[in-house]
Amino acid sequence: MTPVSQLRVAMLSAHSCPVGKLGTKDTGGMSVYIREIASELGKQGHLVDIYTRVHDPKDRQIYELGQNARLIHLRAGEDEQIHKLAVYAHLPDFVSNLESFRTRNSLRYDLIFSHYWLSALAGTYLRQRWHVPHITMFHTLGAVKNSIRERIHPAPGDREPELRIRTERNLVRTCHRVIAPTEKEKRALIRHYGASSQKISVVPCGVNLDHFNIIGKAQARHYLGFDSDRIILFVGRIDPLKGIDNLIKALPFLRHIPKLRLVIIGGGEHSQREIEKLRKLARDLEVQNSVDFLGLIKHEQLPYFYNAADACVVPSYYESFGLVALESLACGTPVVATDVGNHESIIHQGDTGYVIQDNVPSRLADKVALLLSQPATATRSAQSIRATVRKFSWSNIAKAIAKDCQLVLTNYPVSVP
Ligand code: UDP
Repeated sequence: MTPVSQLRVAMLSAHSCPVGKLGTKDTGGMSVYIREIASELGKQGHLVDIYTRVHDPKDRQIYELGQNARLIHLRAGEDEQIHKLAVYAHLPDFVSNLESFRTRNSLRYDLIFSHYWLSALAGTYLRQRWHVPHITMFHTLGAVKNSIRERIHPAPGDREPELRIRTERNLVRTCHRVIAPTEKEKRALIRHYGASSQKISVVPCGVNLDHFNIIGKAQARHYLGFDSDRIILFVGRIDPLKGIDNLIKALPFLRHIPKLRLVIIGGGEHSQREIEKLRKLARDLEVQNSVDFLGLIKHEQLPYFYNAADACVVPSYYESFGLVALESLACGTPVVATDVGNHESIIHQGDTGYVIQDNVPSRLADKVALLLSQPATATRSAQSIRATVRKFSWSNIAKAIAKDCQLVLTNYPVSVP
């Protein structure tokens, strides 16, 4: 097949809505990724339709995301709000409703770009019908999550089902290309699923540099009404794999820092049990007066929080990439993070923050204390921190993805099972 100047892409995101509430249980980095990549590919002249389930009865069927990019809601199952694993049973519905929508509107696509194993499974049915290549991105790998849960006691969260592991293993064989956001994830795909190295492209995730920008600490604090001397920030879904417990356990080691506050952002109604556990931990450690759980904060408001913070901490046991660190750095705020996802390559050790090898509370505390004790230097001014992540603009990332799509089209058809 010859490459085309204008790609027509069907993106699949069955279980999670790209315009859903960020920071809730199943809506995080992947939703940001899909929304931003689709908008950027659209701006670059390609045509993108994202297909997702109706998640709310009020969802409009078609939602314009920007130039050449649309989000299309399809019914799949009676209930809108279901556990993501329950989406599996409704995939045949999702596929057949998508096919009806496509034929009714005389749409044709050059390729499928699916996100997460459930959508990738839908993609394998569709690509056989449409005779087009299928590119996928898993966003997290079930086998990696399970191996972490085997290593850590008590295990952070429940095991991923065998069905997911089997499906992901199968998908790395049947998809035409797999996008991994880091070299680490590429190695994991090879190690856990026997993926062929030639089939994997490493393309990082990006950050919206217009939105995540420098506001200035004083101005951001004034806007938010924060009056603490020292603020450390956590942003993300409230999931045991995020390691928030270790961050709370780090607070007793930081008692010597006056007026220190830990601000925790993320949550939603399905996270209340997890938040209650964290509140209890804070009470047990007698640090509850230094921790604020602010719940969900809209993406649009987050730059104020990143700017107001002295440091952002990402203590995760696992990230496929880790958008939060990138967003913080784009706002000029240094980051202390565990060595997961892309942290090692985006954080310049000692300059824009610290990456710690062991997810241990005292180590997190040491690095936070170090950052907070050092005055801003030439290499750690907000502007110089931001400069280190400029190359991660979504425009650059979308160009790399489009290049990969063209490559796959050029080599199609290839014999995959
Ligand atoms: N986020 C948000 N509001 C919140 C919590 C999180 O907008 O209350 C966003 C955050 O800015 C980031 C995304 O959710 O863009 C989380 O992405 P990340 O890659 O850090 O984690 P994931 O959700 O993929 O595990």
